[in-house]
Amino acid sequence: MGIATINPATGETIKTFEPLSKAEIEAKLKLAQTAFLSYRKTSFSQRSQWLNAAADILERDQVKLGETMTLEMGKTIKSAIAEVQKCALVCRYYAENGADFLKDIPITTDASSSYVHYEPLGIILAVMPWNFPLWQVFRFVAPTLTAGNVGLLKHASNVPQCALAIEAILTEAGFPDGVFQTLLIGASQVENIINDDRVKAATLTGSEPAGMSLASSAGKQIKKVVLELGGSDPFIVLESADIETAATTAVTSRMLNNGQSCIAAKRFIVVDAIADQFEQLLVQKFQALKIGDPMDETVDVGPLATPSILSDIDQQVQKTVAMGGKVLVGGKKLDRQGNYYLPTVLTDIPKGSPGEKDEFFGPVALLFRVKDIDEAIALANDSPFGLGSSVWTNDPNEQERLINEIEAGSVFINGLVKSDPRLPFGGIKRSGYGRELAKEGIHEFVNIKTIWIK
Ligand code: NAP
Repeated sequence: MGIATINPATGETIKTFEPLSKAEIEAKLKLAQTAFLSYRKTSFSQRSQWLNAAADILERDQVKLGETMTLEMGKTIKSAIAEVQKCALVCRYYAENGADFLKDIPITTDASSSYVHYEPLGIILAVMPWNFPLWQVFRFVAPTLTAGNVGLLKHASNVPQCALAIEAILTEAGFPDGVFQTLLIGASQVENIINDDRVKAATLTGSEPAGMSLASSAGKQIKKVVLELGGSDPFIVLESADIETAATTAVTSRMLNNGQSCIAAKRFIVVDAIADQFEQLLVQKFQALKIGDPMDETVDVGPLATPSILSDIDQQVQKTVAMGGKVLVGGKKLDRQGNYYLPTVLTDIPKGSPGEKDEFFGPVALLFRVKDIDEAIALANDSPFGLGSSVWTNDPNEQERLINEIEAGSVFINGLVKSDPRLPFGGIKRSGYGRELAKEGIHEFVNIKTIWIK
């Protein structure tokens, strides 16, 4: 697929873009490197001013930016506007806390003075997905630019207008020329960029194959990479939970971004004692969702981002059903123009079927019944992924066990898994490595320099 805006609600191609030529890429790399040499000398307070200005622009233009996201990848307009507001929040968060996270840390040794000193690395490449077109980029931009690095963005090919809008926001905010640039390029051009000596590290949010490809190229160049990859998050409901609230949250979580979120709850693991009640509530709530034009503020679920995501999710469902899985609601494409899939609940998921191990990147809930907490933990951990987890119980002993025994980058108790600028975000296993956000996120792309003075 070329670089283009194609409306997922209609299939209409709105605008196409030419990828950058080799010479244009070289000019941008050169500009980025020149910009870094002076930008690294700017003060934290100056960078904070620019970041706060970016936040002001995001807030000012939230409706227009929200509409661009909805047009390009189909998220509902209300969630798109909320995403823009969250981008402003992460800018303000690092504007306020960045300097503190990067201040020298004195350490007593045999020296007369020794301390840890943080320095920027240089050009950092961000390869980003379409599903949160602004948020994924701003959660990279805010800490990375605060630390004095400069950024190059290779965004997903279906959100070029979002990619260009981000560059425009940061330029208008006052960041010097070249501190942040969008590269309109295809995935095949990423390797050449990571191979370039001027590029010091990279971060990728996306699929496993993309992560493997970037990490192998970067590995050959001994360059650091942060990977935020897929997930098949468990959502465990035990007997003492508030079942109604759990079911409502289950629907919200599974339907995040029309079902296309890495941290959406995907596997619902419920103990037998309350399974009938939970299943009934889940099905009722799925049936009540309003599907339709994502620009309509009353719509809960819009189209999937591309026709291939639609056909992938349908194939996963059909294969699971052919192997013995049962459809409780949905289970097929919607008979209308656009990439619409009916909100679906599958149960009796057979071993060896896609429902058992694969990530379902669409509005499909996989419902599993287990005997007790032991079986719930074992099933939750029986996954190649380890991104987030949401667990529902009011028993403190069970909470303690789940905190310690779930294999994931986060455990949310009686709540929805969500990213928050104040908390580190990332996964283990095939969900990737490294962390974004919080203090941990800003420390990923810095030289942690040891200073020792006799
Ligand atoms: P994708 O195909 O991997 O695309 C993500 C980005 O990687 C795009 O910019 C894409 O460019 C680029 N890309 C693809 N193949 C590449 C390669 N071989 N080398 C270098 N770059 C490459 O991901 P997706 O399917 O659009 O996104 C969904 C996946 O992202 C899901 O698995 C989801 O769980 C995961 N995700 C994870 C997180 C997290 O924080 N852990 C957050 C959001 C999404 P093109 O568009 O040009 O192909």
